[in-house]
Amino acid sequence: MFMKYIHCLLILVSFIAIAFAADIEDYYKLLNVSKDADTKDIRKAYKLLSKKYHPDKNPGDETAAHKFLEIGEAYEVLMDDEKRQIYDRYGKEGLQNGGAPGGGPGGDPFDMFADFFGGGRRRGPPGKPRGRDAESDLGYTLKEFFNGANTDFNLELQNICDKCSGTGSKDGQLHPCKTCRGTGRMVQKVQLAPGMFQQFEQVCPHCGGQGKQITNKCDKCSGSGVFRGERSFTIHLAPGTPREHIEVYQGQADQSPQWNAGDLKIHIKEKPEGNLGYRRVENNLYRTEVLSLKEALNGGWNRTIPFLDDYENTILLKREEGKIVNNGDVEVIEGKGMPLMNGVDEFGNLYIQYHVVTPGGSKETVEKLLHHDEL
Ligand SMILES: [Zn+2]
Ligand SMILES: [Zn+2]
Repeated sequence: MFMKYIHCLLILVSFIAIAFAADIEDYYKLLNVSKDADTKDIRKAYKLLSKKYHPDKNPGDETAAHKFLEIGEAYEVLMDDEKRQIYDRYGKEGLQNGGAPGGGPGGDPFDMFADFFGGGRRRGPPGKPRGRDAESDLGYTLKEFFNGANTDFNLELQNICDKCSGTGSKDGQLHPCKTCRGTGRMVQKVQLAPGMFQQFEQVCPHCGGQGKQITNKCDKCSGSGVFRGERSFTIHLAPGTPREHIEVYQGQADQSPQWNAGDLKIHIKEKPEGNLGYRRVENNLYRTEVLSLKEALNGGWNRTIPFLDDYENTILLKREEGKIVNNGDVEVIEGKGMPLMNGVDEFGNLYIQYHVVTPGGSKETVEKLLHHDEL
């Protein structure tokens, strides 16, 4: 018993120590960026540090794991204009005092520990369970992945009733339940034998144990405190966003006074159409270009192909007179791949594979023909 007590105390002490240490850390210092750093700098710094401290790279290292969480927290705040302004003015405390809607990073100092110890994320007032996440898909063309895109969309979700603030009550008032007289519990007396009674206590079936009831129901939500309706969102798809990216909107799943809303997760997908003949493999692009046998053998051709970039939307391919292209040859065009997400203006490569169209006949005939012409 005593040992158990000591153990609990130790855990508590280390909680406080970590929480305190986290509180005095400066987000800008954590990410090693200046106060006026723009989002590009912040993203770059975050990428670098999160790689360094990623738990996969530091198995069993709790200091690294903690650092990793702190960096993530700093990144979330500094990348969000609104939260960053609050942080700049009032520091972390400002974010905790309702500055960050729905809790958010720093909203609950124990939030990060939930992740740290493998539990689910807990946000908002403690004691409430966390609601389920909501998921949806959104498709973009390869061209949009290249140039970036801003999309507004609406989703039908469960919302807290704005008319009664989720109370379900027209006058905003809850009255003590008449059945249980506000206790939420009821005592039943059951006769087991003559003169022998047993008392059972049960949850009040009328108010579900809340002890309160609504006298005047809200006419918008009929007393439920929630209604289904469209909620608007905006996605800023950065140029070069990975194909299987998930955009997370914290606390934007179905809402209810009964729970802390889970996250809305939008799965970004690549549409099969609108790729202009390019295929993407991570940061590189691939394309097959068809040449006639005459072009392949003689050279002296040029061809303008469409490109994904909104600003430079063509690429010129050419061969000088007498330059032979073999079937299957690959031409590498450096810097014409997808934009890299590192904040500096860098791109992957474009690989063009030439496919020489033979004028029919068997492979042997064509090879003979090729051989003959080369002579
Ligand atoms: Zn009751
Ligand atoms: Zn209502």
